[in-house]
Amino acid sequence: MAELTFWTGTMDAGKSTLALQTNHNHAARGRVGIIFVSNDRTGPAVLTSRLGLSHAAIEVDEDFNFWTYTVDSLTHGSKVDYLICDEAQFYTPSQVEQLAKIVDELRIEVFCFGILTDFRTRLFPGAARLVELADRTEVLQVEALCWCGKRATHNARTENGVMVTEGEVIVVGDVEEVGAIPDVPPEIAYEVLCRQHHRLAMTTARAREAGRVNDREPLPFD
Ligand SMILES: [Zn+2]
Repeated sequence: MAELTFWTGTMDAGKSTLALQTNHNHAARGRVGIIFVSNDRTGPAVLTSRLGLSHAAIEVDEDFNFWTYTVDSLTHGSKVDYLICDEAQFYTPSQVEQLAKIVDELRIEVFCFGILTDFRTRLFPGAARLVELADRTEVLQVEALCWCGKRATHNARTENGVMVTEGEVIVVGDVEEVGAIPDVPPEIAYEVLCRQHHRLAMTTARAREAGRVNDREPLPFD
């Protein structure tokens, strides 16, 4: 029974690792899948995870049509059992609708992986459409942690070390390797925080300046 599943979590939660693991598990059983990414952190057409794994992928830009692509693949004799769709928050709502149609009409399993909210704490349009349409929305069990030790639920964007809550929604940066992408200004970085510290704009750098970070130990009385 084909389903549209949306796996979600914050930036550090290991979504791309799970996407690659899911592909591995299905491929090991002789099933054939196609992997899609959007604005992947190492550049187009490769799905990479922070643990160093990678796999060739198809880059999804705003004009890409999942339905046409999949029907074309089937028409040309390819076997397609499932789709792995990473960075799905960057997809347009109509692309998400195409994915739902692929599940319903072609009986192809679709696994989506993505962030729910942007650095302003607003739902990405693609993520919102996925929550609306998915058969299941699952939150990743590996929890990213805020500097205070609490569960990190929000994505913060920093520019030159200062947290911002306005600007272009899609600017690719990296949590750990700032400036690793040639096209991205090195001053843009992302960090995951708990809701309280996102609300207070208390990033790790600011907390450290304030003497509140002690070797990343949780603060019991915070
Ligand atoms: Zn916190």
